[in-house]
Amino acid sequence: MTNDADWTRLLERVRACTACDLPLGPKPILSVSPTARLLIIGQAPGRRAHEAARTFADATGDRLRAWLGLAPDLFYDSTRVGIVPMGFCYPGTQEGGGDILPDARCSATWHAPLFAHLSQVKLTLLVGRVAQVRYLPDPLGSMSEAVARWRDYLPGQVPLPHPSWRTLGWANRNPWFEAEMLPALRVRIADVLK
Ligand code: SF4
Repeated sequence: MTNDADWTRLLERVRACTACDLPLGPKPILSVSPTARLLIIGQAPGRRAHEAARTFADATGDRLRAWLGLAPDLFYDSTRVGIVPMGFCYPGTQEGGGDILPDARCSATWHAPLFAHLSQVKLTLLVGRVAQVRYLPDPLGSMSEAVARWRDYLPGQVPLPHPSWRTLGWANRNPWFEAEMLPALRVRIADVLK
């Protein structure tokens, strides 16, 4: 059973964190409460999410919500769905496009204290390779190999690709993802959130 005052103090500490040197400055973005039953561990906020101060506030989020069958009001209901990225602040963009990977110190510092309060979580979605390497029990191999073995991680975890536009080609080459995996995942999510 989580202590409300401890949780509030912890969130205040997260939101005041300035540990990283970031191009647009620290602005931790996460959406979670101790009653969440579904936990989404993504990568890091993109520039639009940074500007909106809201996780997945971009086309990437639209794609992820469509994959999961979650309308925005439920997706952003932190009492039911927790969204805790591997890095809480926008890390900047690398030359040639694509965001810089999140600084490992963020998850190393904050995940364990946050997750200690999340006793109601029944399913954790590992969105992208960074979260998979950190949290899958056997993180060897590629993102594609991990996602192809999604049944092996049920009922507690499901690895997913990062929902960027780059995933569109991957999904076309792996038709089982939309034909088999996503329908089964939506059923599991509905069961977890009922
Ligand atoms: S990315 Fe994480 S560790 Fe770095 S400043 Fe933001 S909240 Fe702090």
